[in-house]
Amino acid sequence: MSDLKKLLNANFPFASFRGEQEAVLSRVWANQDVLALMPTGMGKSLCFQFPAKVRDGLVLVISPLIALMQDQVQKAQELKISATFLSSTISREERESRQERIARGDYQLIYVTPERFRKPEFVAAIKNRRIQLLAVDEAHCISQWGHDFRPDYSRVGEFRALLGNPPTMALTATATPEVQKDILNKLSIPTAETISAGIERPNLALQVHDVYGIDEKIRNIIGLRHQTSGGAAIVYCSLIQTLKKVSSALRQLGIEHLVYHGDLSPQDRKRNLRRFSTEETPVMIATPAFGLGIDKSNVRLLVHVETPSSLESYFQEVGRAGRDGEKSYCHLLYDQEDVSIQMEFLKWSHPEPDFIRKVYQLIEDKRSQVDQDGFDFLREQMNFRNRRDFRSEAAVSILERWGCLEKSEDPFPYRCVHTPTDEQFAAEDGATILKTQNLKLLEMVRWATQEQECRMNRIYQYFGHSHEEPCGICDICQSRGEILS
Ligand SMILES: [Zn+2]
Repeated sequence: MSDLKKLLNANFPFASFRGEQEAVLSRVWANQDVLALMPTGMGKSLCFQFPAKVRDGLVLVISPLIALMQDQVQKAQELKISATFLSSTISREERESRQERIARGDYQLIYVTPERFRKPEFVAAIKNRRIQLLAVDEAHCISQWGHDFRPDYSRVGEFRALLGNPPTMALTATATPEVQKDILNKLSIPTAETISAGIERPNLALQVHDVYGIDEKIRNIIGLRHQTSGGAAIVYCSLIQTLKKVSSALRQLGIEHLVYHGDLSPQDRKRNLRRFSTEETPVMIATPAFGLGIDKSNVRLLVHVETPSSLESYFQEVGRAGRDGEKSYCHLLYDQEDVSIQMEFLKWSHPEPDFIRKVYQLIEDKRSQVDQDGFDFLREQMNFRNRRDFRSEAAVSILERWGCLEKSEDPFPYRCVHTPTDEQFAAEDGATILKTQNLKLLEMVRWATQEQECRMNRIYQYFGHSHEEPCGICDICQSRGEILS
């Protein structure tokens, strides 16, 4: 038996490692840097918990998923690991007390968001601790070439240097070869070994349906649930307004279902989540955030009502179906119109530098009008009439993130701090991010509209894996089979 296995048996209630856990941990044991490509649900938490419990020194996990931190800390505590998290969601007193305990060396495992490193108090508390392992979860967020770039993540390499370049583990479920390279580069761990758990999901039957408009989509959803009524179902809607339409149509037909989205109260979200976890054949209509950290093994049907913005998102989301290995059906309802809406959305999320500068100038120079009419005034001054255009809102949120604006008590609740600098525009290159995201969307559209290649194989290829044999169960393989037979 390997030493790691003995340590596992002595310290954890598990008989053996799963997937690539042992391979990853053996690199950690040798104090080597490692990039682990692990699908969600393959037990990545143990990769943090194991060194935290078994070795001396602190394991610091950087994660963007505040919603899951509480849960992860609780699970670690159940394993008798002294763990905590720091995020904007806890009270100031509590945060200060946790920071004091960090400085004293009380914890073995800490979860933080990258934003935490903006706070000098936190940096002071953590700086003199011996970090045995820095774990960067959802590491694809570091890369501007990734599908989910988070500006605060781009500085993680800097934080690593600040902590004295401790051994580092980067983890992600989905990263193209290009993004993998960028992760190693941004973290300055060029020699890190990449360990890939493999991404094969031979039990998922991927299908795409060409549809037009919400009514046809709703008819499809009802038909699909009828066909696949055993097991749980998840219906993903990107937009809350679509979700509400789908839910009300199903309600009128007496089809029982649960909903999960950002407009629900925390209590309702919790209750619906619990019902989904405990019931045998629930139908859940949700925004794509639903499913993170949920361990439901019998999702037999998964429907995308809108086209996801990248193959990364799509593959991550369908990956929540069929965790038990049984055949499961994943349907994408493809509507050309949705793609144009999405492109518009992307464009407005990344206003041009001149636009951002001008918004800042207006807030500074025309304070009284900005206070009086808020975004309406900005929109009018920036000369656009489309009411769905949210570039001003996007510009303000970028300026706030850069520290150019600060929240205040004014009617227009921001105070000017400093004009955006050239360095800031260079560090977060909106044009590059926009281009990357458009390319990702294009790749998604190409995948959905092509009729030649096995759907699953094309996804494997996208992530740098090659497969000769077609899956045999996607809509394209199926239609081929019919022609041949
Ligand atoms: Zn296929």
